[in-house]
Amino acid sequence: MKILIKGGRVVNPQAPASRLEPKSAEPALDAIMDVLIEDSTIIKIGKNISDANARRVDADGMVVAPGFIDMHTHLREPGREDEETIESGSRSGVKGGYCALAPMANTEPVADNVEVINFLNAQAEKYAWTHIYPVGSVTRGLKGETITEIGEFKEAGVVALSDDGRPVTNSRIFMLALQYAGMFNLPVISHCEDVHLTEGGCMNEGLNSTILGLPGMPAAAEEVMVARDIALARWTGGRVHVAHVSCANTVELVRRAKFEGVNVTAETAPHYFSLTDDAVKTYDTNAKMNPPLRTAEDVEAVRQGLRDGTIDAIATDHAPHTHVEKQVAFIEAPFGVIGLETCLPLVITKLVDEGVLTLPEAIAKLTLGPARILGLSMGKIETGARADITVFDPASEYKIDVNTFECKCRNSPFNGWRLKGKAVHVIVAGQPRLLDGRLVG
Ligand SMILES: [Zn+2]
Repeated sequence: MKILIKGGRVVNPQAPASRLEPKSAEPALDAIMDVLIEDSTIIKIGKNISDANARRVDADGMVVAPGFIDMHTHLREPGREDEETIESGSRSGVKGGYCALAPMANTEPVADNVEVINFLNAQAEKYAWTHIYPVGSVTRGLKGETITEIGEFKEAGVVALSDDGRPVTNSRIFMLALQYAGMFNLPVISHCEDVHLTEGGCMNEGLNSTILGLPGMPAAAEEVMVARDIALARWTGGRVHVAHVSCANTVELVRRAKFEGVNVTAETAPHYFSLTDDAVKTYDTNAKMNPPLRTAEDVEAVRQGLRDGTIDAIATDHAPHTHVEKQVAFIEAPFGVIGLETCLPLVITKLVDEGVLTLPEAIAKLTLGPARILGLSMGKIETGARADITVFDPASEYKIDVNTFECKCRNSPFNGWRLKGKAVHVIVAGQPRLLDGRLVG
């Protein structure tokens, strides 16, 4: 099958020349172009391409970007298929502009052995609408005691290791995991939280938690773990990726570590650059996440970290929970918010329109950044590359309605927000998965 994407603004992002570069480099390509796809490959990029045999996809007024990659998603399969499945999660992903998702290992059972990974791959083969790149756990059962069989994981297609949902508390185990993962060139994704400091907490510790009378989780709990991880990455030469950066001091620690040449990368999620803990004032459990929403200063620091390249990627930390689970007292509710269908509009509205990032820089955080961290040959629009492409309209403004989501759950603090930016066409390995905003196939 041939597909011809006509007349869009093709943006092929380029990574910064060095980690000391204060800002992302200019994109490798940013021009009105046509893109011709044959089977699963981009075969031509240029002006005024015509091909009578190709299916024409109109991209007039739209941006043609590499397919988005979410390097931090919870798909809940196996174990909690009532919350999400590979099928529902990847449909939600396509709707949000994603061509690839990396599901975290904290399923039931935990993805701590190659059988679970093989199961995920087999389910993905049958039901997934996007590429699925599984993350294996660092330790057996997320217990933080015994390191998993990383060599087997690598062979089975695991792209990173993480006990996400929990930190690896024992520093020696984490150090060994970094060394062992380094032998297979895999990053270790760290959920940075000192659980002794956050015990019992349900929101950011600060003025709002005091006013609301809710137990707090201090920013220092994140900071001390980030500092430890950086120290261990410096020592071992291993590769640490800091998940869901939420506070100012984390940004500063990662910034300094990168400047020193430590092998560290970082991601943040849209809620950390869009919301403060003021969102908790109504006791809305949809604003309960871990790490928690922080202060306006933290939000500003996260935005600054994205701007200067300290934060490499934007991930969703998509964490579906059923209505029944969230419909309880704030302190009892599970942590987590969905994010696959709100990420792009938040990036456009809160980062691009507010001048934090240029459009090509924003695209890089959703594509090339995660691709480089996970070692995927994605994140580029080039002749010969696999045809994973997201076409989005950066100008379309609309009201977020969670009831229209493909995701099985509705736990979003952004319901009712007016935002800009919507995926219109998504092509995964040459297959149209979203056309004119509708799922196909
Ligand atoms: Zn986490």
